[in-house]
Amino acid sequence: MRRPITAFSLALASLVAGLWGPTACANEQVINLYSARHYPTDEALYNDFTKATGIKINRVDSDDAGIIARLKAEGSASPADVILLVDASRLWRGEVDGLFQPVKSKTLETTVPSQLRAKPTDDGTAWFGLSTRARVIVFDKLKVNKTDVDTYEKLADPKNKGKLCIRSGSHPYNLSLFGAMSEHLGPVATEKWLKGLVDNMAREPKGGDTDQIKAVASGECGIAVSNTYYLARLMRSTNPADKTVMERVGVVFPNQQSWGTHVNVAGGAVARYSKNPANAVKFLEYLVSPQAQNHFANGNNEWPVVKGLKLDNPALQAMTGGDFKSELMPISAVGMNQIKVQQMLDRVGFK
Ligand code: FE
Repeated sequence: MRRPITAFSLALASLVAGLWGPTACANEQVINLYSARHYPTDEALYNDFTKATGIKINRVDSDDAGIIARLKAEGSASPADVILLVDASRLWRGEVDGLFQPVKSKTLETTVPSQLRAKPTDDGTAWFGLSTRARVIVFDKLKVNKTDVDTYEKLADPKNKGKLCIRSGSHPYNLSLFGAMSEHLGPVATEKWLKGLVDNMAREPKGGDTDQIKAVASGECGIAVSNTYYLARLMRSTNPADKTVMERVGVVFPNQQSWGTHVNVAGGAVARYSKNPANAVKFLEYLVSPQAQNHFANGNNEWPVVKGLKLDNPALQAMTGGDFKSELMPISAVGMNQIKVQQMLDRVGFK
């Protein structure tokens, strides 16, 4: 005869699992990190945190969409404490879907500029940008003049017909860029601009940003759009083929004479059902320390969100010539536009 499963037997089973399972010691401090940062260099960052605090990090890696889906499926049973995502529109999605718990932290509020975090409510701030990346224009130095691609608007200029390569319009990096354009130009002009982009494509959108850069270098496309860290990665590569790619392409930080280049964030939040919110905040605060911020800059070629840090990254230095003007609109506004932008993409046939 089967014994019925009672609350007592379940409690006993979980006690035994707790004592003998892989997560053994009750006093051991652990935070569960769900991370879309797929950069191997981040490993050192987490080890340093454990060394400094004694708090271990269990990491679950997935992409932004995978993490959001997992949090929704797990609901209140989710063991997640900290969430790291790599795009403003995904962070906004997590916020409106109620996957984060608002945080009040003097350290985070004073170090992360207000335009690079969620709009605060009385309960706190839902997420914080931790590093930034610019979305820039790449061009074939043999076939395209820099002055023909020095603004995002010019990507839609008929003189650039048949030259543009870009990843899917629905990819979060593009949704965020187009969401920012909608703030700058207004929705009607933005939809017209998106139609111009479709008219100028050299091929249907496919691949990631690195594929677009390589397609420029091979002569298939004259112009592409990419996040800066992909370019920096190729610049710092020791592979001769990557060096050849970077010799052929030019990089322009668009809109330096107007609103500035579009900048996106990778950011973090405390999970809504975290059982360790204090340690989760401690981890986010660690990620804005000078040490961690330098790590973002050097390990993954991003810019720190914290002002006044000396940047020691030759590739980023070479790319910008020192500094560049970035747009200053609140990055939270960009996320809010993504549904509207997706509808525009559908209407103009931007795949
Ligand atoms: Fe990326």
